[in-house]
Amino acid sequence: MPEGPSIIILKELVASFKDQEVIAATGNSAKIDLNRPVGKTILDFKSWGKHFLICFDDYTIKIHFMLFGSYRINERKDSDPRLSLQFRDGELNFYACSVKELEAPLDEIYDWSADVMSKHWDPDKARDRLLEQKDAPVCDALLNQDIFSGVGNIIKNEVLYRIRVHPATKTGDLPKKKLDEMIREAVNYSFDFLEWKKDYTLKKHWLAHTKKTCLRCDLPMKKEYMGKTNRRTFFCDNCQVKYPDS
Ligand SMILES: [Zn+2]
Repeated sequence: MPEGPSIIILKELVASFKDQEVIAATGNSAKIDLNRPVGKTILDFKSWGKHFLICFDDYTIKIHFMLFGSYRINERKDSDPRLSLQFRDGELNFYACSVKELEAPLDEIYDWSADVMSKHWDPDKARDRLLEQKDAPVCDALLNQDIFSGVGNIIKNEVLYRIRVHPATKTGDLPKKKLDEMIREAVNYSFDFLEWKKDYTLKKHWLAHTKKTCLRCDLPMKKEYMGKTNRRTFFCDNCQVKYPDS
């Protein structure tokens, strides 16, 4: 599943279609009116976490890649696209994703301060929101898109390994210093992810995600499906502390 940084990369890759007119729209998405974008100019591409937003003057098309979504720019896959937008000198194709129309202004729909990669990101608000969910394990809190929009499973695993916190720790049991570290590293790791992904070296930099051995302890890593989110969680229960620390 593309995490927030991958959507930032997509936004950069399609920038040349901004201010271009859509001359045809096709696809097998039943949820949207394919006539509606035709003849309209794309005013902007935006993102909120994992949401990719195609902005027109009177509405927005929202793409969410879910678990298996993908895209092609000026290329096609063998499968049918959910949405294909044609321009005079190119095309954008989206596959196996959710496509929806948003009517309200984006500022009414999205809280940009919750997006870890947004210039409006607000760590103090994240802290307040985390403290409202004291019983949630940190492995779920990091995936909560209302708190850390854009953070996905890879970022979750890497952040917790980086700050040496056990994924089953309840948010309310984190010492203040560790809570602040988790908020800070969720952002730092997202920007590292962005750089590494652009260099095609993301996997090479994984320290926890899919790893079998802890580099710090030379002991086997655990792999469990944890939390309400039930996502693959990789951790070392030797050096990642479960708070309260006994
Ligand atoms: Zn370890």
